[in-house]
Amino acid sequence: MPNHRLSRAARRPVRVSFEFFPPKTPEMEATLWRSIERLAPLDPTFMSVTYGAGGSTRERTHATVARMVTDTVVPPAAHLTCVSATKAEVDAVVDAYREAGVRHIVALRGDPANGVGGTFEPHPGGYASTAELVAGIRRRAPEIELSVSAYPEKHPESPSLEADFDVLKAKVDAGANRAITQFFFDNDHYLRYVDQARARGIHIPIVPGIVPVSNFKQTASFAARAGATVPEWFAARFEGLDNDVQTRQLIAAAVAAEQVLDLVDHGVKDFHFYTMNKADLVYAVCHLLGLRPTAATAKAAAA
Ligand code: FAD
Repeated sequence: MPNHRLSRAARRPVRVSFEFFPPKTPEMEATLWRSIERLAPLDPTFMSVTYGAGGSTRERTHATVARMVTDTVVPPAAHLTCVSATKAEVDAVVDAYREAGVRHIVALRGDPANGVGGTFEPHPGGYASTAELVAGIRRRAPEIELSVSAYPEKHPESPSLEADFDVLKAKVDAGANRAITQFFFDNDHYLRYVDQARARGIHIPIVPGIVPVSNFKQTASFAARAGATVPEWFAARFEGLDNDVQTRQLIAAAVAAEQVLDLVDHGVKDFHFYTMNKADLVYAVCHLLGLRPTAATAKAAAA
């Protein structure tokens, strides 16, 4: 019997973007570039590279996005945070990205220097909030595309969802072009959040951040810190599989497919994947979304 849900999804034009983190070792670098070579031919809107807490990956983030500019035809996006840096230091990073040919920045406050759950203290000479950072980049580099974060289940430090919407609105008013959400497992959180944002006059694209769960234990602990709830029905799907990697991978693909296809059914056309620098699961989900390697990008990635 044909699966109408899959074929319907496959017919819709869907756009994707991929997030990577800068590698620490030559082995991790090789893994990252194998993943990029596999995913770039899917013609993503952009591929982004995270920025370590307090600028700890400054050079590695720069090196990775710079190589994306030269070795792929996919536009890179560089993450940038306000933590532990003066405005002049942050501005210098923006200038270096521009010189390297980067035209898209994901602007963030960043986690407190003392770690997730700590208190964020703005640097005395630094940008005090993401909205300030966005305004600063906009003034300095009007041509730059700016993405920011959004939290469908509220940021853990936020007193309320309402306060979060005020922060998002301030980022949009300062010049943000797009929001990318924290990951979530219950699509209702995302769909409700988008409706509420629209009702508050926030009209930029709010792209769902999707994390394919290859290691449930690890993701559940990360979700707890990030303020993303793990529904019981979701946890149950991975129950008893801690030591069964093979089955876990199959379940992970099925679960991620179920999530994105449901979002497609709700009219969502853009997806941002947290790849964790691994390609297989994300590639499979993109295939289900109807994406196929294109010759031009395949050639560029192989070059
Ligand atoms: P904002 O959107 O500016 O604020 C989020 C919420 O925090 C606000 O709604 C507000 O309620 C609350 N808040 C902000 N400032 C204060 C304050 N001073 N006092 C009390 N409450 C406050 N982190 C990295 O370090 N590097 C990355 O590359 C990175 N990439 C990310 C990409 C995405 C798509 C997402 C969703 C997150 C990313 N993060 C990254 C994590 C992010 O830096 C943290 O969640 C951080 O705690 C908040 O930064 P933000 O820009 O999301 O905050």
